[in-house]
Amino acid sequence: MSFTPERPPLHGETLDSLTARLATAGVPAYRARQVLEWTYKRRAAGWEAMTSLPRALRAALAEMFDFDPTTLLLNRESADVTDKLLLELRDRLLIETVIIRAPQEGVGLDHSRKTICLSTQVGCAMGCRFCASGLAGLKRHLSAGEIVHQLLQVCRREDARTPRARSELASFDNIVVMGMGEPLHNYDELLRALTIVNAPWGLGFGARRITVSTSGLVPQIRRLAAEPLGFRLAISLHGATNEVREQIMPINRRWPLEELLPAVREFSDRHGRMVTLEFILIEDINDSLDQAAKLGGIAAGLHAHVNLIPYNTVAGLPWRRPSLTRQQRFLDVLEQRGVSVTLRREKGHDIDAACGQLRLQTEQARAAAATQP
Ligand code: SF4
Repeated sequence: MSFTPERPPLHGETLDSLTARLATAGVPAYRARQVLEWTYKRRAAGWEAMTSLPRALRAALAEMFDFDPTTLLLNRESADVTDKLLLELRDRLLIETVIIRAPQEGVGLDHSRKTICLSTQVGCAMGCRFCASGLAGLKRHLSAGEIVHQLLQVCRREDARTPRARSELASFDNIVVMGMGEPLHNYDELLRALTIVNAPWGLGFGARRITVSTSGLVPQIRRLAAEPLGFRLAISLHGATNEVREQIMPINRRWPLEELLPAVREFSDRHGRMVTLEFILIEDINDSLDQAAKLGGIAAGLHAHVNLIPYNTVAGLPWRRPSLTRQQRFLDVLEQRGVSVTLRREKGHDIDAACGQLRLQTEQARAAAATQP
């Protein structure tokens, strides 16, 4: 379920692994730091731009590593709050990286909170019934380099928007790993990627501003709890009882709530962090007041924050978004119980359910073009 490219992406190398690889070619260790500095801090456009490296070394590096494991196919800016980058991988598969701008009161969109949403797989094996990304199953895992390179594509895009002031990744408030794929199903590559994103020799982005989202892989949640880097955790709950959750999330049969919730507790106890429970509100599936009350009980027991996300319609799927009145009633039940809760109210294309649709549309257009005489 992984892809072996001709040359590995440079962006999957840690300082240690790059130093070791260069050492086999007789290159001194300090060069590894220089290469990473050019890549992440100075954001060189390619090997040729790394002018402090000898020409012969640049040529050798170009033979050893891929500097551009993803190619930007489409930069779809929306009038509302969500921009999408459609990226092509070396094997022509497609992924999406999303930028979400949450406007702050009294300031324009350019001063809003900005979050980057990363993909970790092409497709997904979890088969959540409401999700466009899971429709065609898992094609493959992304490598660490492909995960990290999504952020460099975002930086390049930002640089193009603000050419005079090169925008640092630090201008983003958060990174959420909740795009296409189940991140914890690709655990090792994910952890390697996030180590690179976090490291001072990498992108230097604080672990506390990185949220890993999972549909509920219990052993991997426990493994993540034991990691020294304190990432945040979000659980795609979407059902407050096994009966409801199972209808829309097959993973619940493998890891039902009585197994999932203790693992979530272990994570929050170890890291002293509030976990977020994501809950997509789907009409007549999980939006009853009984579900709200049970969700309130779960959240209170875990001291978790609840993020309610009204469902966005996905072409070909039967689910609907509840009315504003039903959304508000659901919210009221949680608030009355003193639960920390937010209800996403912004208009436009929300990242969760709609995520993966741009990729699907492009793949369908490609398939149609391939069958044309
Ligand atoms: S919601 Fe997430 S875990 Fe579920 S199928 Fe979609 S991408 Fe996979």
